[in-house]
Amino acid sequence: MAPRKTRSTSRDPRFVIQRHRARALHYDFRLEIDGVLVSWAVPKGVTLDPRARHLAVHVEDHPLDYADFEGAIPEGEYGGGDVIVWDRGTWELHGADDARAAVEAGEIHVDLHGEKLRGRVVLVRTGDASEKREQWLVLHKRDDDAVDGWDPEDHPLSVISGLDNDQVAANRGRIWTRDGGAN
Ligand code: MN
Repeated sequence: MAPRKTRSTSRDPRFVIQRHRARALHYDFRLEIDGVLVSWAVPKGVTLDPRARHLAVHVEDHPLDYADFEGAIPEGEYGGGDVIVWDRGTWELHGADDARAAVEAGEIHVDLHGEKLRGRVVLVRTGDASEKREQWLVLHKRDDDAVDGWDPEDHPLSVISGLDNDQVAANRGRIWTRDGGAN
């Protein structure tokens, strides 16, 4: 039996979770799979709390370079509001050989190595696979990284800038770039 892997490697795919205040607050959970960011919009966010079962709506893939986007999106544009990089890191597929096939089959188990989130997270489709925006649930397994009662809203700062969404929104002219740098 192989020892439990506790450190990620640079070859592991990336994940990012962006806290996005648009018409409604949500967190965008994105997994790098085959060169794109496969994405779910999660109104209550991804959590370490193993008791939580949060709705996750499968949304369109995003390009890989969107993973570093933090800033304001003008009102009137799709997703208008403000975005922070709430967590990021790498992930490993668990219990399957092909991540894309797992998503298509409606269930994927991932081990996250993030700055806030660690441990095993499961995404499972609950809605009809023919729906335009499939309904899934996201949950954290009860493992060594689980924390009962952990609430993503208690950890509101960006992991790249240290800013919260209000600060990003207030500085929109200064920081609205794809990579979070000043302009
Ligand atoms: Mn979004």
